This record gives sequence, structure tokens and C-alpha cells, in this order.
Amino acid sequence: MTEFTMEKGADGVAIITWDLPGRSMNVLTLKGAEELEAAVTDALADDAVKGIVITSGKDSFAGGMDLNVLAGMKDNGAEGVFDGVMQLHNMLRKIERAGMEPKTNKGGKPIAAALPGTAMGIGLELPLACHRIFVADNPKAKLGLPEIMVGIFPGSGGTTRLVRKLGVMGASQYLLQGKSVDPKKAKSAGIIDEVAADPVAAAKEWVLSGPKIVKPWDEKGYKMPGGAPYHPAGFQTFVGANAMVNGQTWGAFPAAKALLSAVYEGAMVPFDTALKIEARWFTNVIMNPSSGAMIRSLFLNKEALEKGANRPEAPDQTVKKVGVMGAGMMGAGIALVSAQAGIEVVLIDQKQEAADKGKAYAESYFEKGIKRGKSTPEKAEAVLKKITATTDYDQLKDADLIIEAVFEDVGVKAEVTKNVEAVVPEDCIFATNTSTLPISDLAKASKRPEQFIGIHFFSPVEKMALVEIIKGNETGDRAVAKALDYVRQIRKSPIVVNDARFFYANRCIIPYLNEGARMVAEGVEPALVDNAARLLGMPVGPLQLIDETSIDLAVKIAKATKEALGDKYPADNKPVDDLMFALYDQGRLGRKSNAGFYSYDEKGKREGLWEGLDDLTPTQDDQPDVTEVQHRLMFAQVLEAVRALEEGVLEDIREGDVGAILGWGFAPWSGGPFSWLDILGAEYAAERCDQLAQKFGPRFSCPDLLRDMASKGQTFYGRFGQNAQAA
Ligand code: NAD
Repeated sequence: MTEFTMEKGADGVAIITWDLPGRSMNVLTLKGAEELEAAVTDALADDAVKGIVITSGKDSFAGGMDLNVLAGMKDNGAEGVFDGVMQLHNMLRKIERAGMEPKTNKGGKPIAAALPGTAMGIGLELPLACHRIFVADNPKAKLGLPEIMVGIFPGSGGTTRLVRKLGVMGASQYLLQGKSVDPKKAKSAGIIDEVAADPVAAAKEWVLSGPKIVKPWDEKGYKMPGGAPYHPAGFQTFVGANAMVNGQTWGAFPAAKALLSAVYEGAMVPFDTALKIEARWFTNVIMNPSSGAMIRSLFLNKEALEKGANRPEAPDQTVKKVGVMGAGMMGAGIALVSAQAGIEVVLIDQKQEAADKGKAYAESYFEKGIKRGKSTPEKAEAVLKKITATTDYDQLKDADLIIEAVFEDVGVKAEVTKNVEAVVPEDCIFATNTSTLPISDLAKASKRPEQFIGIHFFSPVEKMALVEIIKGNETGDRAVAKALDYVRQIRKSPIVVNDARFFYANRCIIPYLNEGARMVAEGVEPALVDNAARLLGMPVGPLQLIDETSIDLAVKIAKATKEALGDKYPADNKPVDDLMFALYDQGRLGRKSNAGFYSYDEKGKREGLWEGLDDLTPTQDDQPDVTEVQHRLMFAQVLEAVRALEEGVLEDIREGDVGAILGWGFAPWSGGPFSWLDILGAEYAAERCDQLAQKFGPRFSCPDLLRDMASKGQTFYGRFGQNAQAA
């Protein structure tokens, strides 16, 4: 089967159409690249052809590179990757030069790209090599180079071309942040040339108009917009860009550094040399285990989970009407995201004012969106119309899903469960958003425990991408399918775990927070603790995160855990508890009280670490090595993830990795806790556990599973990852 077909018209225009069989969106395969090259070569050599238009047979242009191409190149090592990338460069360069005389730039045939819709990654790099880009007037189309988000960067000339087209500053948001834009914005940014009702017709007309086709960078005297590195203005730009990248990434993301190097070094040399430099840095990034792990977790596995990889067999469970119980912080957010997905929402609280306040959250969300040009009054009205704020349980009569987000209290939740079950249809699924109470205990209040489940959101609901679905002892398959279908409707990423204290995400994050606080209690410089975490690529250090989630919550959780565990409560938590209780007693509750580990100004802006902390817990003269601090913070999290797997709380390491990155920002460059341990190697990880356990206590003891893997030379993805596609 062919992926690219060519039709030569009587008007002298050859139309090359990309239409990958069996896929809703084009991706570039090795075969496709060969076919494209053959078609272009044929058209350039044919005297009857005056120009070429490259378009797509689908309603989008292309979604990017087929990841198997990268995997195939990797099989042959760094050389294989470099050679493969250079082949693509040569093919795209052939399009760009289009048969022109190398010295005089004379001759050649115009080649236009006509995009019916979305063009991402190589889907945009190919048009960038053409002489003019026409895009359909389709506001839903997205144009961008999102590679950086999965740990690589545009390596098929996109980096070199976009920088030469827009300048370093202009290109930076697309390359460094992976920002994508609609066609009109892409035109005003200078990424594409024209937005047209019929892009193929417009492209044909242009091709036949005898246009100038030589690219600015192939002409004598080309100057990069904003200046190359040795130009005074360019110099400033590079200093700024370098600072910005390191400020944002703390040097923890190999791809961002490599991208910047490719841009900087490429800007100082002729175009063809710049392409080689881009290919070298791209090879460097592809050979770094970080890129494979990021692609696996943030692209392949995230998508697989969203598409229902762990959905049990059950008929379609699409939610039509959801009842949200409790219109507080979480309930308000849940109502908003549900209504945005087109679901009817009944938002219930004890008093009408409280219910209205919950709906007002959605109203102010849209007001802000409209002000920023991200929404319109019509869209806002359509969504808000779907939310009914009330105290009347009768409104739940035809609800097919309930999400309970009332106070974290067993008694209150039990009463709500009973009252709701008295009115809802027999087959309605009941979900609780509890963050700490065991699902199986809460299910005792239900007449239908097989229809009772946990759907655990993270705050703020509208921003956080992860939803943790928790099965109680008696939860049935239909409830799990319902929860998964609902999460798909609201376009978030699900993980499904079994019931256990703190489920999965909180179970791993609490030891991270505790370890940070414990180090401060031991006399480690607080700045060293938080900065060590940032240097690992964690979005927020543990002390800052405690402030964000609040110190009274930490105190509440410590008290409840102590009560639940009794004698089994870990003795080494005492210094952590003492410090938290001391802060709490001083009214330092974190950001919400404008005082915690950090100081805040009266507007709530974080100013710096609180000076009084040193009186509460003096820092020692002798400070640990940054790697030791980092290992304590990392192992505290990943060992909990391994224990969750050992105990069967987690059933799929893909969920462990995706959930960690989306749930609490676990060092995304690593691909997640299991990927990080695989990068480290089980043998070294087990050895490091032993050292940490000896020095700091049994919380670092090596789990049996990890020890077994170390003795067998196994990796997590080797042992458990049959379903996890390797990148
Ligand atoms: P909140 O105090 O902001 O809101 C609770 C709401 O429930 C209040 O508006 C209250 O009036 C209402 N309510 C209490 N009893 C009720 C009843 N009998 N009927 C109807 N409404 C009633 O609390 P929140 O932070 O939104 O948390 C709600 C739930 O979500 C808790 O179980 C909590 O553990 C869980 N949760 C919270 C977070 C978080 O970050 N805050 C994250 C995940 C889960």
C-alpha cells in the first residue's frame, strides 16, 4: 500500500497526497519518507511539471513521526540514529532546494505545502522545508513542534529552520515550550504564510504564478532575525534564553540543554552545517535514556491508559448526568470539568448559598478566561447552563453517576451515601473523592457496594491531569468502566489502583514531604533541601509543597495515621511531627496563612525561607552532599512505589510511572519512579538502599522485589512491562 501518491495535472502542477492507510492521522514512516522522496525526485525531473503541492488526504496534515522509526534507528546505536536523521535532512533539503543551481540559486520548481488541518512535529517540519505554507481556515487545527514535551526536540530541520525564520526569541516558545497555535496565530507569528479557504487551490495558484523560491538563508548576506550569537543583540538574546531555560528546567532536562546547544552552535555556521549540528544533538538526546523513558510514559503509555488499556469488559458507560455532593473546593472543580465535557451536573450542598458558591467558582473561571481571550460569553453560558446548584436531592432522580466530595468524615459521608441511594436509579454508580479514608470502609454505608468506587481528583481539579480510580474490596467491573469512561469524557488521565492507605499518589508523596522536613529537623539547610529537589527536576521542593498543601493538613494526617496505626506508627516520624506541630502551634499553616517554611508578603507572594526557622531547628555546620539529599528525596518516593507494586495496590507499572508524573510532578525527565529505577539499574539501586538504610533507618530498606531483580539483573519494564511499549 502506498502512503504518498502523486497526480500530475494538465496545468503542470503535481499534487502529492499523503494518506497513510488505516490511520486517522498521518505519521511519517520509513516507507513514507522513501515514497515522498521518490515522488519529489520524479516531479523535479519531469519537464511537464512546473511546480508541486504537498497535501494530505485526511482532514489533518500529520501528527508527527512514527515512533517505530526512532526505535529502529536506535537499534543501530548512535551512528544509526545520526545516519537516519541525516537521510531525512537530505530529503527535506532536496525539497527546499528543489533543483536550484547551488551557486546561482537559478532554476528549481516551487513546492508549496497545503495543510487541511493539524500539523505537529515532522508534520510541520516538512512544510517548513517547502517554499510556502498554506493552511485551511480551521480554528481547531493545531500547528506546533511539541517534541520537547516528551523529552526530545525537533530534529528534522524544524529547529534550524524555525530559528532562521523567526529568530531565537521568536522561535523559543515553540521550540522550548512546545507551544502549538491555530492557523491564524501561526500566520501572525510567521510560522506559516497563508490561511486559505481552499489551501490546495491557493497553493496551486501560487505555484503557477512563477514565484521566487529561494529561502532567505540560502541567499548571500542572510542575517538571522534578532541577530546571531556574535551580533550584539543576538548575544543578549542567547544570554537571556540560556538563563530562561536553566531558570525553568534547573538543568534537569537533557533535551532542553541539547536544543539550546543546537540552536546556539547552529546559528554560527552555514545552513547545511547547522543541520548536521542539529542531527548530532538530536542523536545525543535520543541516546540518553531519559528520552526513551519520557516518550514511553508521557506519550505511549499515557495514551494507552487514556484509551482504556485497563478498562474491564463492560458496555459503554458514558455519563449523562452526574450528581456532585458537596460544593466546596473539590466539588466546585469537579462540577466545572464535568460541565465542560457536556455532562449535566447537579451540584448539591447543605445550604443553597453554599451550592451557589460552588457554581460561582465556574462563573469566575469563565470570567477570567473571557478576559484573557481564552473563552467566549457563549461558551461560558453553554457550560454554566449545565450546572444546577441546589439542595434538592430529588434532582438526582435520573443521575447515572454520583461523585461525593463532602467533608472528610466517615459519618457525614455515610449519611450522604444513604440519602443519595434512596433517590438515585438502581444502576447509578456512587464514587467518593476521599483522599484518606479506605474505600472499602466507606462502601459499608452503601446498599450496593459493587457499585461503589473511589474517583480521586487532585487540586486544583481543572488543572491537574491525573485522576486516581480506587477499587474497594467489592467494587465491580461496571463501576470501574464507568469511572474510566467518565475520566475519558473529562479528558484526564486515569490510573486504577486497589484500596490501601493513601492509595498510590499520596502514599508516595507523603514520604517525600516527610523526608524534606526530617532533613530540616536534622539540621540540613532548608535551601539545600528544596534546591536539591528542583535540581532533580521536581517542580516544587518538599518544603514549598508542604506550605502549598498546608501544615494543618500535615498535622491532621499525622494524627489520623498515628491513631490508625497505633504501635506500628514509625518511630522515625517523631522529628517530622515535632517540627510540623511546632510550626502549627505558631500559626504557621503554610501559604494559606501567609506563613510556613517560607515567608510571604501580604499579597501572598513567597519571599524566601522563614528566618525564624533556624531558631526552631538550628542548621548544622556540617552539611551533606547534594547527591545524598537528592537520593534521600528520590528513594523516599520510589521505594513506596515499589512497595505499592509488591502489595498489589498498583497492578501496572505504567500506571505507577504516568501517575507519578501527572499526579505530583515526579521528575518527568526520568519517565517516573519505575523508569528511574531502571535507568539506575536494580543492582545499584539495591546497594544504595542498603547504604541509606544503614545511615538513616529502615524506611530505606530494600524491598524484596528490588533485591530479587538486582540478583537476576532485571529491569521493571523487562519484568513487568509486557504491555508497556518500549520507545
Ligand atoms: P471543602 O470543605 O472545601 O468542601 C466540602 C463541602 O461539602 C462544603 O461545601 C460543605 O458544606 C459540603 N458538605 C458537608 N456536608 C455535606 C452534606 N451532608 N451534604 C452536602 N454537602 C455537604 O472540602 P474539599 O477540600 O472540597 O474536600 C472534599 C472532599 O474531597 C474530602 O473528602 C477531601 O478529603 C477530598 N479531597 C480533597 C482534596 C484537596 O486538595 N482539598 C484533594 C482530593 C480529595
